[in-house]
Amino acid sequence: PSSDALVFFGATGDLAYKKIFPALQAMMLRDGLDLPIIGVAHSGWNVEQLRQRAHDSLAQAAKEQGGEVDEAAFARLAARLQYVDGDYNDPATFAQLKQALGAAQRPLHYLAIPPKLFGVVAKNLQQAGCADGARIVVEKPFGRDLASAQALNRTLHEVFPESAIFRIDHYLGKEPVQNLLYFRFANTVLEPVWNNRYVDRVQITMAEQFGVDGRGAFYEGVGAIRDVLQNHLLQVTSLLAMDAPIGGGPEALRAEKLRLFRAMRPLDPAEVVRGQFEGYREVDGVAADSNVETFVALRLYIDTWRWAGVPFHIRAGKRLPLTTTEVMVDMKAPPLSVFDGIGAAQSNYFRFRVNPEVIIATGMRVKQPGEEMRGEPVELVMRHDLAPEKSPYERLLGDAIRGDNALFTSDECVEAAWAVVDRVLAHEGAVDVYEPGSWGPAAADRIAGDEGWQDPRAEEGKPC
Ligand code: NAP
Repeated sequence: PSSDALVFFGATGDLAYKKIFPALQAMMLRDGLDLPIIGVAHSGWNVEQLRQRAHDSLAQAAKEQGGEVDEAAFARLAARLQYVDGDYNDPATFAQLKQALGAAQRPLHYLAIPPKLFGVVAKNLQQAGCADGARIVVEKPFGRDLASAQALNRTLHEVFPESAIFRIDHYLGKEPVQNLLYFRFANTVLEPVWNNRYVDRVQITMAEQFGVDGRGAFYEGVGAIRDVLQNHLLQVTSLLAMDAPIGGGPEALRAEKLRLFRAMRPLDPAEVVRGQFEGYREVDGVAADSNVETFVALRLYIDTWRWAGVPFHIRAGKRLPLTTTEVMVDMKAPPLSVFDGIGAAQSNYFRFRVNPEVIIATGMRVKQPGEEMRGEPVELVMRHDLAPEKSPYERLLGDAIRGDNALFTSDECVEAAWAVVDRVLAHEGAVDVYEPGSWGPAAADRIAGDEGWQDPRAEEGKPC
């Protein structure tokens, strides 16, 4: 059954302002969002101030999209808002919350708060009688390494069963990421070639042109491996490489993903390059001798019959030449070169661009006009630029309210993903410095071997 109240811890914070109020407004416009929304924080505010904050957030979002706030929808959203002011360490805050919940039986507690407070909030919810029949949504990071992730899971499990815990990785709420999964299992032609007999290598790039502006202190405690590799990029890898789930239900999907995560070979520090863009150490909040990586490139192997021997080259970084996330699945060359001696780098591929445009494309070769049997590469663009219907947060919060956990990460998946990167986290040596605007340090080239990295295209592929 759906939740009958939304308790919003962290309603006065940054994530609430940037993402959550716009998602709530969108839900209000689409479905009516018929449940009380109770913000909890310790700003000393009253409900009017929270309403004003929500309106400011929507005005900002509307301005960015060149539109205006839908005031009628906002009036309905504002009417649903309540506010409880108090410290999360103080049981009195939760006694107030209990009162505000009134007759609600199945609240959804959404924790957009510093992760160190997850445990105390869960315990206080339990003691105040607010955890019975409830669900809880937590924001990343889910720990800093395997041991802390296990400790966090234990803490949450003391209060909530796993089926009531929804861990948000907003990447999984993105349409193009879901399309990776759909495209693979809705098309017969892929499955026969989706294995080590036909796939030469897989490359995943998550590039950001921007740096860490205004977030230096936050980034110092994280780095690229924790910020995007352990979660977003390993999740994308799992969707790309997993076996078909048996049935379409959330449990089957989670089970197959978990099998894949467990088959990922723990990263070998010798196959990981950590880089830092020149100038990072001068950013506000960053240590003058910081060794935090703003770039990572690595070679990952998946020890299954399907993927044995196929390298997954993954890289992510800041201050790179463009902002994009792209997956390239490079197929092997034909077994015999009959015509123009094509090598693997020039043969077929599948390209999934997840960001900023949505592109699914395949690379083929066709003959050039003329007497000679000479070919040229052609890219067939299957779908591109499909505007997502919902933002990831609208989708994920809606799913959590309905109790559908298919797009949320399980305790076992989170721990398995940390087990992949754990050795690399312990190996925090010096970083290779790279020039802003480049594709990272030169050392990253050896990760991709002789054929090198296929740089994502700056322009869209053209339909053939
Ligand atoms: P934030 O701006 O620091 O907001 C923290 C919120 O928690 C505020 O509402 C704050 O209330 C409240 N709070 C903190 N300590 C409290 C206490 N002892 N008692 C009562 N209220 C307390 O953090 P954020 O950037 O929104 O991030 C929240 C969570 O989302 C974190 O887990 C973060 O890792 C995750 N996240 C954030 C982003 C992002 O873009 N910001 C992206 C992905 C994930 P007051 O305002 O009253 O102090």
